[in-house]
Formats: sequence, structure tokens, C-alpha cells
Amino acid sequence: MRAEIIAIGDELSTGQRLDTNSQWLAERLTELGVDVMFHTTVGDELDSNVAVFRAAIDRADVVVSTGGLGPTADDLTREAIAVATGVELVQDEASLAHIRSLFARRGYGSMTERNVVQAQFPSGSRPVANPHGTAPGIDMTIPRECCQPCRLFALPGVPAEMFAMWRETVAPALLAAQTTRRVTLHRRIKCFGAGESKLEAMLPDMIRRGRRSTQRLSTGEPRVGITVSDTTITLRITASGPDEAACRKLIAPTESQIRELLGVLVFGEEEDELQHAVVRLLNERHETVAVAECATDGLVDHWLADADADSSTLLGGVVLHEAESLAALLGITDVDPASPAAAEAMARVIRERTGADYGLAVAALPKDVRYSSDREIAGSLQMALATSENVRVKGIPLSGHPAVVRTRAAKQALNMLRLALLNHATIER
Ligand code: AMP
Ligand code: MG
Repeated sequence: MRAEIIAIGDELSTGQRLDTNSQWLAERLTELGVDVMFHTTVGDELDSNVAVFRAAIDRADVVVSTGGLGPTADDLTREAIAVATGVELVQDEASLAHIRSLFARRGYGSMTERNVVQAQFPSGSRPVANPHGTAPGIDMTIPRECCQPCRLFALPGVPAEMFAMWRETVAPALLAAQTTRRVTLHRRIKCFGAGESKLEAMLPDMIRRGRRSTQRLSTGEPRVGITVSDTTITLRITASGPDEAACRKLIAPTESQIRELLGVLVFGEEEDELQHAVVRLLNERHETVAVAECATDGLVDHWLADADADSSTLLGGVVLHEAESLAALLGITDVDPASPAAAEAMARVIRERTGADYGLAVAALPKDVRYSSDREIAGSLQMALATSENVRVKGIPLSGHPAVVRTRAAKQALNMLRLALLNHATIER
């Protein structure tokens, strides 16, 4: 089943309010095994609403709208659905009685004509009870020439009302309409160390569009989606089946294949970030790290401290910016704080001073490069990792907008340590 979500309201189309209802509805529909293919947002104007409903009814088996059911003149959803489906609006006496009783109970004063409109429904539809508000929703089955009828639910925009109506009426109705029960499960595999196109090329065929089609999903083959956030890549494996165990069984071979093809590029799953992978590896080896940072402003230390809940692996960190602070705090003199020599000395000294197994250092940004600038940053940033055996220095190219460079640099530093820890593990085995 393919679904479309329609969010209605000028406050949404003009960007005044974030459309959180659509996100919530999309998650709920997906959990029920319904493929959400379209999200549409439309302002409070009748003709546009009619056009949007017509298109949705045409291309989706399930349509869920949110908003526009209130009592004010800009609430046009009832009328739009009636026009789009070519039926009259008719009064529902039970709904009118509900609205009247709510007014009396809550002491709202006298009902307006617009409140009476809230008891009107497109002919042939059923009201969806709204236990928390005046506006009942609409449940309508619309015949189509092309295929099976479209099931349309119109719900209010007020989130608490919408949630309750979904749980009490819409979800049970959709479940009952499903000939076979289906659930959908996601598995997220987190990767770092390659660009998104390179990574995609390493997974031949998996992320192809065809694989995302509903036919493929219904045959049980999991689909794989790719998203990037600050150079961390998430591969999302999605499978549908009669229950969660069946979904997990479908996901497992695809997950193993991904892990095999990507090797050390995979650092974790679900909510994992690089720091969680690093802390896990350090814990396994009963080893510790200390960090010295210039360009990353303490971000590496902050992330590691967050991931290291029992403070067993992070011995500490210092944040330094200028040559003077390098000299005063670490005794590193006569070096350009952006140089490979500075990174090397910082890693070595922080390791020695703290007694950690690893010293991780990020040098300063090259001269004249500022995060606050509007221009793209270019140049390279030096980082280093000191162990009991040696100090390795690495220059990473700095490119991109200043807003993302710091985060990327901190991730690169963590990844340098992660890869070193993995190499050690392989050598020992
Ligand atoms: P309405 O049903 O259009 O009268 O909407 C009532 C209220 O619900 C609005 O004023 C918003 O505060 C809220 N609301 C409406 N639509 C959404 C949405 N898509 N996401 C989050 N809040 C919404
Ligand atoms: Mg509105």
C-alpha cells in the first residue's frame, strides 16, 4: 500500500511552524508496513487544497491529512474533500450533539455557525471521533476507476488530538483493512572514512532505485537507503514482513554483505557515533587516551567524555589556541601551532604528561583561516597520534564551509585513533 500525507495550513507553507505532524504520521504508517511515497504541504486556500486532494487520491491507496478542520474561515479541509470527490457536505447529527455537549461541558459559551460546520461531512464518509477536541475527523473510502478504492483520513492539526485519533481509530482501521499483517523494520549501519559516492560504488546494486519499489519490498528483499550527516554515512536497511522476527531475518544477510564489503569503514550501528566505537575499543583493551586540541576547540574531548560514561578511558584533554599557550601549558616552544611538528609534539607531550596509552592531537588552523569567515576554508589541518612506539602525523585537507569543518576535523581525529586501535587488534590476533 502506498500512502500520501497532506499537511494543511498557511503557518506550515510559510515556514512559521515546523510540520512535525507529517513526520509522526510517516513513522506510524511505516510501522504498519505502509509505504509513504509523498508528503505534500499546502496553504489555506480552497482551490489548492482541492487540487492536492485530487492528486493524492489518484496516486495513493491511503491518504492522511492533518489540519484545516477547525472552526475558523480558513479551515477548508471538509469543503476541499467534498469538492475533490464530487459529493455534497451533509450534517452528522451525532457529531453536532458531541460538539454541543463539549461546549456545555467546557463552558465555551454559545456555539457559532462555524462550529456547526464542524459537524458537516462529505456525503458517504464516516466521522472519526475526537475525544480531546471539537473537530471530528473524516474517514472516507473513495472509489477509483484505475484500481482499488482510496482510503482517506482527515485529522485535525492539533498534535495531541491527532495522536489520540490515530491510535483509537485510524491505526486499527488500517490494520483491519490489511489482508496480510505487515510490519516494517529499519536497521542503521554507521560508516566513516569514504565519501558517499565512493561508498555507494562499493555496494553494487544495493542502493539502486528499482530496489526501492513496492513490488521489491513485498517480495521481501530489503531496501537500502543512504544518508550523510557531517561526513558520517548511515546505511538504512528496511524490510517488511509479517512480524519483526521475519524482518530481522530478511535484514541479516544484507547487513552481513554490507559489513563484508565495507570492512573498517563500518564503525557501528543505530545511534552509535565514532566516539562510542573508540570508547568501546579502548575499553576492550583496557587502554586510555588523552587529547590536546587547537582547531577542534575541545570537541574531541567533549564527545569522548560523553561516550565514556564511567570515565574509564579518557584521562583528560587540553584546549589550546596560540603558540603561547602551547609553550605555557605543554612546554612546546618554537613551533608554528599549525605545523606537523606542533601536532606531533602535542600528541607526544599530552600522552607523557597524563600517562595515557594514546595521545591524540589536533593542531591549529593554518594562519588566516577562521571558522567565522563566510568564505570556504581551504588548506590542511595537522593531527597526530602518539603511542608507546611512535607518533604518526596526518594532514587532512580542509575544505568546505567553516560551519562543518570543525566537526569533520574532530571526526577525522577520532577515526585516526579508531583505525589505529583496529590495526592493533588485528596484529594481536
Ligand atoms: P488546524 O487543525 O489547522 O486548526 O491546526 C491547529 C493547530 O495545530 C495549529 O495552529 C498548529 O499549532 C498545530 N498544527 C497544525 N498542523 C500542524 C503540523 N502539521 N505540525 C505541527 N503542528 C501543527
Ligand atoms: Mg489551520
